[in-house]
Amino acid sequence: MTDQNDNTPLPVLEQDDKKTTVGNYFVSNYPPFSTWSTDHRGAALDLYNTPAAPGTPLGLYVHIPFCRKRCHFCYFRVYTDKTRDEVSEYLDAVLEETRRYAETERIRGRKLKFVYFGGGTPSYLSEKQLTYLFEGLKEVLDWSEVEEVAFECEPGTLSTRKLECLKSLGVTRLSLGIENFNDQILELNNRAHRSQQVGNAYDWAVDAGFQQINIDLIAGMLGETDANWRHNIDTLLEMKPEAVTIYQMEVPYNTTIYKDMKESGADEAPVADWGTKRRWVTDAYAALEDAGYTVTSAYTAVRDPDAIKFVYRDALWSGADMLAVGVSSFGYLTNSDGGHSGGMHIQNQHDIVPYISAVTGGDSPVYRALPIDKEEALIREWVLQMKLGRISRKPFIDKFGVDPFEKWAGVLKGYVDDGLMHIEGDELVIPRQTLLRIDTLLIALFKPEHQGVRYA
Ligand code: SF4
Repeated sequence: MTDQNDNTPLPVLEQDDKKTTVGNYFVSNYPPFSTWSTDHRGAALDLYNTPAAPGTPLGLYVHIPFCRKRCHFCYFRVYTDKTRDEVSEYLDAVLEETRRYAETERIRGRKLKFVYFGGGTPSYLSEKQLTYLFEGLKEVLDWSEVEEVAFECEPGTLSTRKLECLKSLGVTRLSLGIENFNDQILELNNRAHRSQQVGNAYDWAVDAGFQQINIDLIAGMLGETDANWRHNIDTLLEMKPEAVTIYQMEVPYNTTIYKDMKESGADEAPVADWGTKRRWVTDAYAALEDAGYTVTSAYTAVRDPDAIKFVYRDALWSGADMLAVGVSSFGYLTNSDGGHSGGMHIQNQHDIVPYISAVTGGDSPVYRALPIDKEEALIREWVLQMKLGRISRKPFIDKFGVDPFEKWAGVLKGYVDDGLMHIEGDELVIPRQTLLRIDTLLIALFKPEHQGVRYA
């Protein structure tokens, strides 16, 4: 979570040489989180008492907020000091929260399509805790048709036994938060793991036989250089993971980097400018393509696009129901017409103490929510799917009765005239260089009242 008291407008990237300043650039949802409100909590709980339209996909997001160390660029609410008993108490709360949802009209009898364990660091949990958590979740929800179980890991928390445990529990997509292969850079950014652990974890994960291993990297960590970024790319190519995700470093509020900037009076973050970060990602994608990979979104490249899917992302971006459990987790429920008329964003308490107290006291841990109308649902799905680089207007006309090319005729014409994207028949096509700055271009598609507000 970012600083709840910050009212800075969304930053806009204009020039390649623009310095990295503080703020969130990444558009991960719509409308922005800052517009969600405790006023809608009751309406969100009511929606659990209504059935979903038949065929609406259902996913489960489970948040594990524990980490070994807090990275200097991290803006999430994470805990690095919890005892084993406190972690167990948290897992019990997550299971109790899930059990209650499983009995609601909205969830009862439905089969999960995907499950995602995010954090924090889900792999912080021991084998015993993981087994307890997975078995508890499987007792109350139907996993019989799950297509993907995605699980985020920090390499230094893994062992052969833990990876075998995760494989036996059903994890299909193992995501390794490597971020960089250089020990000095990992140290400078306060990452908990080191390069030796990366190599070991990757080899063990390959041996365990996961369907898909994804490697996360960040372009522009503190201390990054051209030579080291080249080393990162070369190491990545030697490892040959099924999927690669590359983010460009941003410096949100509530990070240690920002706190240091504030103390020193700096208005520019001590990381590479946006042009350099985009060049590094461009170089990485070019090298991956030379090695046979296909770039499938603004952030991802995969070795085999026919075999390697990311169900969580694709379902979420096209308006699936997502039940979210755990502290600060956020989910989405469609209206009972399958989401044609909109739905509801829902977020839990973002601190562990009120979260656990709510659940153990028999109350709901939901903290804030936002009902969204048809237009906002259309904007949400369209802007998120634009990140895939190619988007057809037809499904949007079918679902919402609105032609996106007409709705955004002026904005899209401007982007097309500027050479940022082009139209091929029914599709809007967004080339690589534009995709690398897509987040800033999406804001013009928001409703006017959402264009100048802080994001988180
Ligand atoms: S591992 Fe991830 S969640 Fe944990 S502190 Fe680092 S960035 Fe934050």
